[in-house]
Amino acid sequence: MNRIIIQQVRIETGVKKVAGIVTETVTDLVTLVIEEGVISQVLKEDDAELVGKRYDAKGALLLPGFTEKHCHLDKSRLGTDWQAVKRVDSIVERFEMEIGELNRLPLSVAQRAEQLIQVSLQAGVTSLRSHVDVHPRVNLAYLDQVMDALGAHSSELKSEIVAFPQHGLLRNDSRDLIRQALKKGASLVGGVDPTAVDGDMKKSLDATFELAYEQGAGIDLHLHERDEMGLATFDYFLELVEKYQLQNKTAVSHAFALADVKGAQQKELFGRLAEQGVSIITSAPLGSMPPVLTLQEAGVKVHVGCDNIFDNWSPYGNGDILERVGRLGEMTNQVTEFELSRTLGFITEGLTPLNDQGEKVWPAVGDAADFVFVEASCSAEAVARRSRRVATMAGGKITAGQL
Ligand SMILES: [Zn+2]
Repeated sequence: MNRIIIQQVRIETGVKKVAGIVTETVTDLVTLVIEEGVISQVLKEDDAELVGKRYDAKGALLLPGFTEKHCHLDKSRLGTDWQAVKRVDSIVERFEMEIGELNRLPLSVAQRAEQLIQVSLQAGVTSLRSHVDVHPRVNLAYLDQVMDALGAHSSELKSEIVAFPQHGLLRNDSRDLIRQALKKGASLVGGVDPTAVDGDMKKSLDATFELAYEQGAGIDLHLHERDEMGLATFDYFLELVEKYQLQNKTAVSHAFALADVKGAQQKELFGRLAEQGVSIITSAPLGSMPPVLTLQEAGVKVHVGCDNIFDNWSPYGNGDILERVGRLGEMTNQVTEFELSRTLGFITEGLTPLNDQGEKVWPAVGDAADFVFVEASCSAEAVARRSRRVATMAGGKITAGQL
């Protein structure tokens, strides 16, 4: 049997409150026993008799593995020389220029994807969603290379691929290529600004949903459009989720227009998003983030992804998802022990060591051994201070750092 024993692991066990307010997180040191990639025991006292590969976490805090919910493994220039971004007048000009620039880089798509995978693993990521360009200018070439890069890490990183018609699903008819990508291993249909890029919001979304329905795939749409234009897209998107019964299988990334709706209209729209299980993914952009806390209160699932990481669209971004969620915390004024501990959930699919009542819910026997070991006293500190990652572990295997 493949058994791993990790001693001196700090886990969160509860909270201290003063006058009903959480003032402190309580932790304990335990020994974790992992068998076949799953936690089999959480021991208060170490058992020296246990045979297996031993590690010493030296008091590092255990957190659930992070999820990077929005990146582009084919677009990052990581590993190549510094280059800033050229100004353009439109998104069309940007993506027309992008293909030539990417193809001129000295590293292949697979090599650059590998660089970003390494950065993600070091950041604590155990699960990742990547968009990959699929359109007539590149056919399935980028997809093949990203799949090769991810395939080499299949035991270290859970991944899902969004087949992304960056040049428009209709504008540069990419429908058949997207279909082929889904048959090859992508599990979601992507899309971008159906009005601004495709010029016909309803036709574009119809085609997107038809493809998803036909191939049993999910959907993750880039939507930067604002105000009435963006809100009309949300309205029709929700109509189609219902029509094709794609509840809990779709997401809208960026979703800036959700910041443009208030009052009763907001309540109605957010309620529909929750009801249809449409999740919202944000890169916590400075200035145009949707109201993530209000969305959560309405029952909408919200996730964070780094998105641009040193690519043709932005010279910024370092691939550190914990840093990104810390930024979200700052932007939404999350400052108390309780608020910061909840903020972690944006990068862990909502899984936090303590529940909203301050009771321990994780780690438990039977949970997957997908962890991050962090140099912090509690999750609140880790989020606020973007604490150093000591090691990342997936299925009981160290994938970055060391113990
Ligand atoms: Zn994106």
